[in-house]
Amino acid sequence: MSLLTRARAMIEADRKLTGTEPVAAKKPPTAPARVIAIANQKGGVGKTTTAINLSTALAAAGHSVLLVDLDPQGNASTGLGLARNARGHGMFAVLAEGYAIADTVRETMIPGLSILPADPDLAAAELELVSASHRETRLKAALAAWGALPHHDFVIIDCPPSLGLLTLNGLIAAQDVLVPLQCEFFALEGITQITQTIEAVRKRLNPALSLHGIVLTMYDRRNNLSDLVAEDVRGFFGNKVYDTVIPRNIRVSEAPSHGKPVLLYDWKSPGSQAYIRLAAELVERMGQASGRGA
Ligand code: ADP
Ligand code: MG
Repeated sequence: MSLLTRARAMIEADRKLTGTEPVAAKKPPTAPARVIAIANQKGGVGKTTTAINLSTALAAAGHSVLLVDLDPQGNASTGLGLARNARGHGMFAVLAEGYAIADTVRETMIPGLSILPADPDLAAAELELVSASHRETRLKAALAAWGALPHHDFVIIDCPPSLGLLTLNGLIAAQDVLVPLQCEFFALEGITQITQTIEAVRKRLNPALSLHGIVLTMYDRRNNLSDLVAEDVRGFFGNKVYDTVIPRNIRVSEAPSHGKPVLLYDWKSPGSQAYIRLAAELVERMGQASGRGA
């Protein structure tokens, strides 16, 4: 009898004796999802594009992902093929009307990626919630009530271009903030505001929150300014800045009008390849080497 066979026989005998499963057969406890808010109070810096394509690339790599569209413009919802009139109840219903997430979550065309869409009323949420109780913690509470966190590897929140109540809900539900930064002249000035906000929220409302990283977007290698900005931001924020840089790429901007992430629209394009690398870098930085069940 080989050593291995003997060891197996002993474990088996012990299991029968004690009536318990051998330790090796126990499943590791399931870790809760990493909740990542994609935020920057500036509009047009690539938040929504990053939310759509990072979520898609993570799902394509076998992770289970929930995308939360917190922007009243609903571009993340449209960009994933959910036309405005086909969305039903969305984040306004959840935040302001007490709808359960289970009644609003939708599957997307990408296996492993579901979405909580924005609804046309979401713009009214900022006002509607002003005098409401627990107004800043509603997203966090709704996610917890649904039990979303143990079933997903990642929850990605696309925040609107402002630091109002919707973004605040995103920052309180999240542990990590990923800040897209457009490679342009005033990039560094703009980022001070979001880093100060993260700090204020961390101190007063959500001690678990941190600036996870900064991703440079719309990088144009023909433009010297892009390099100067990238150098500046790396000099200031060091390794918080992702190695992966998202290039300015026409295919990225065309994809939403086809209701698809760029990975489905043209997976060979430089934009798609960059978002695949970004997802891999994010997983590596978060120390989550493999998808759940993979
Ligand atoms: P935000 O959500 O921060 O307002 P968006 O993701 O909507 O920004 O991007 C603003 C505009 O820039 C959109 O028209 C989008 O298609 C375009 N865009 C974003 N990223 C890229 C890119 N890498 N290359 C080309 N166009 C891009
Ligand atoms: Mg947006």
